[in-house]
Amino acid sequence: MGDSHFDLAILGAGPGGYVAAIRAAQLGLRVAVVEREHLGGVCLNWGCIPTKALLRTAEIHHQLHDLDAFGLYAREVGFDAKKVVARSRAVAKRLAGGVKQLLRKHEVSVVSGHGRLAGRGRVEVTRDGGREEVRAAHVILATGARARTLPGLEPDGHLVWTYREAMVPEAIPGRLLVVGSGAIGIEFASFYRDMGADVAVVEILPRILPAEDAEVSAAARRAFERRGIEIHTEASVKALRREGDRVVAALDLGGKAVERDFDRAILAIGITGNVEDVGLETTAARVEKGHVVVDRWLATAEPGLYAIGDLVGPPWLAHKASHEGVVCVERIAGVEGVHPLDATRIPACTYSRPQVASVGLTEQQAAERGHELRVGRFPFVANGKAVAAGDTEGFVKTVFDARTGELLGAHLFGPEVTELVFGFAVARTLESTEAELLQAVFPHPTLSEAMHEAVLAAYGRPLHI
Ligand SMILES: Cc1cc2nc3c(=O)[nH]c(=O)nc-3n(C[C@H](O)[C@H](O)[C@H](O)COP(=O)(O)OP(=O)(O)OC[C@H]3O[C@@H](n4cnc5c(N)ncnc54)[C@H](O)[C@@H]3O)c2cc1C
Repeated sequence: MGDSHFDLAILGAGPGGYVAAIRAAQLGLRVAVVEREHLGGVCLNWGCIPTKALLRTAEIHHQLHDLDAFGLYAREVGFDAKKVVARSRAVAKRLAGGVKQLLRKHEVSVVSGHGRLAGRGRVEVTRDGGREEVRAAHVILATGARARTLPGLEPDGHLVWTYREAMVPEAIPGRLLVVGSGAIGIEFASFYRDMGADVAVVEILPRILPAEDAEVSAAARRAFERRGIEIHTEASVKALRREGDRVVAALDLGGKAVERDFDRAILAIGITGNVEDVGLETTAARVEKGHVVVDRWLATAEPGLYAIGDLVGPPWLAHKASHEGVVCVERIAGVEGVHPLDATRIPACTYSRPQVASVGLTEQQAAERGHELRVGRFPFVANGKAVAAGDTEGFVKTVFDARTGELLGAHLFGPEVTELVFGFAVARTLESTEAELLQAVFPHPTLSEAMHEAVLAAYGRPLHI
């Protein structure tokens, strides 16, 4: 590796760690990144990117079964599960390779192996029995997170899957149980349903996609049920028993004990930080509920030690991890005008069919914080582009502070909303009020016009409904 003295050492090369490394290099810091598995972390290798490749296949598969309305027909539509998975893996590999190039371009030193804090400013890296030391004035922990498991619900990699096995199936199971209805659970439910599986989702809370606005979550439930996805809320899985090549699930469905057979089960019951075996016990840094505690500048209680991304807690999102990496590094480098990350400006997306996206406060959160509200809604069925595309399910909802006009939140459900939501994220970052948004000119015909109409609707003047 050559010289092992750096300004900054980063443990973990996921979207938190590798983006922090690039930004630090741009700022003139000498940077080393320690990675024990793959550059790109969960996001590029086992999360965001390979799932979107799978979901694109599922979308095309669905469209091939829904051609008549477009005047098309196709015979003998089918799929090869191995090729579906191979494409997803190839996409992941290509992007992870891109990270390698980017780090090389920015002259970031990549150290392969498991990193562990070994005293202030020192990281011990072990690999294949070998050991080396990296020294740096500042250390950022970006070791990410992994799937949470519960007693009785342990994954076995064969019948009971975490997201890793769910992403590389040998075949599409006939009957699939998805435990948990956050973004990850719902994306897998959507993918497998479109590929022909009978899917049941079990959620312990009263509604699916519990972090989303209640109206969106209710509409999503109706849409998924119409697609044939079975959904049980206020329900739980007590135990999973392996019998031959099937899983017997002991379910509590609203107080009623039921046993059901499935071919496979996916556990999507949350995330816990990779806090173990990184030497945190040798520092003053604190760990709470499986995550490292940091201040708004991502600093731990140990001088010179920082933590970012999934490791520091929700929302467990790649863009949040990357943004934290940039904030943390710019603060270390003494850049002027750096702002801590405002959680209400982080968009969240679920790439199911239909899609879900949001930014800012839900209507309920805004009301609980004492805001007087103006709420607007506009359905895609009244949007020209959605009608032309034959994809009209869903709506856009805006939540404004009635006194100041501040856009507090936006909640979208429907076609391509994961692409649209950035518009509201920019609006929130610019602290836009209704005054600017009402005057903005939206291109016609686009799905984005539904965003404008949802703003107009909040002020009692929608034009197309
Ligand atoms: C199925 C799935 C789908 C997802 N889809 C999306 C999505 O669509 N959009 C989105 O924003 N987010 C999505 N996520 C979440 C996203 O993947 C994470 O939020 C993101 O990867 C977090 O980035 P990170 O850098 O904090 O950690 P990670 O990406 O987990 O990277 C941490 C890295 O640290 C390495 N590491 C850990 N410990 C050590 C050590 N001691 N020494 C050296 N290296 C170490 C790991 O090998 C890993 O490469 C998804 C997650 C999953 C599981």
